[in-house]
Order: sequence, then structure tokens, then C-alpha cells
Amino acid sequence: MRCPFCGNEDSQVKDSRPTEDNGAIRRRRQCEACAARFTTFERIQLRELTVLKSEDKREPFERDKLVRSVSIAARKRPVTAAQIERLVSGIQRQLETLGDSEIPSQRIGELVMEGLKGLDPVAYIRFASVYKDFREAKDFEEFAGNVSEAGTSKRDGE
Ligand SMILES: [Zn+2]
Repeated sequence: MRCPFCGNEDSQVKDSRPTEDNGAIRRRRQCEACAARFTTFERIQLRELTVLKSEDKREPFERDKLVRSVSIAARKRPVTAAQIERLVSGIQRQLETLGDSEIPSQRIGELVMEGLKGLDPVAYIRFASVYKDFREAKDFEEFAGNVSEAGTSKRDGE
């Protein structure tokens, strides 16, 4: 594992133990060149997942990205990092066993909402509103496109 501080290739494992949800092995490492310490996580991945953002937009599933967006929704709420890890691990495992390697981003959003609902109502509402706005923004683009084609302009409010 390359040291993130000096780029040296060799590090020593100081400590190795499973994460709270048993979904990964956490390793404390020390760089053999600059002695900096860092942590790595080793996880089981059943297969590669692709997220379908839209009809012609795909990107590889990134677990960290999902953890980040859930963490933002749960900011300053009584939701622990371990709970978020568990939620994301559960979703990832579910997606991996679905039988389809291309997953619509919508499906992932729904799974996160389902999970957050049981964890914290505020985090749930935050995530749902961001997710909903995103979808409505897309709807709105389609709507705006139709309107401008018809040669009229959009009105605010109502
Ligand atoms: Zn180093």
C-alpha cells in the first residue's frame, strides 16, 4: 500500500481488526520510510457495480461517495459513523445480489431513504429533499425544454 504522505510502497501493518459491522478489515499501517501512520480498509466486493445516472450516463459505483452523501444528510444528527457504514454496507450487499450489474441511481436513492427512515427522521427528510429536488430539476428541464420549443417563457411562482 503506497504511503499517502511520501509515496513509499512499503508499509508495516501495526494493527488489524474487523470493523464494527464485520463488513471490512481495518488495518493501521505505518510507512517504513517516513513513519507516517494511515488506515486502510479491506472489503469484500462480490462484483463490479455500475450506476445508471441517465440513459447515456454511467459511472462506477463508489461506496465512499454514498457514505459521503449519507453523512451530509446526517450531519449534526445522532447518527454514528458506524450506523452509516452499516447502512451503506447493507445497500451495497443488496445491490450486489440483485443480479443486475447496472443499477439506476434512483434505486440507490430509494434504498438510502428506506434505511435513513429508520435511523433519523431529520436525516431522512434532508436526504429525501435533496434527492427529490434533483429529480424535479430534471423534470423541470424537460418541462422548460418543451416550453421554449413552443416559444413561450416560464413564469415563476404559482
Ligand atoms: Zn511515507
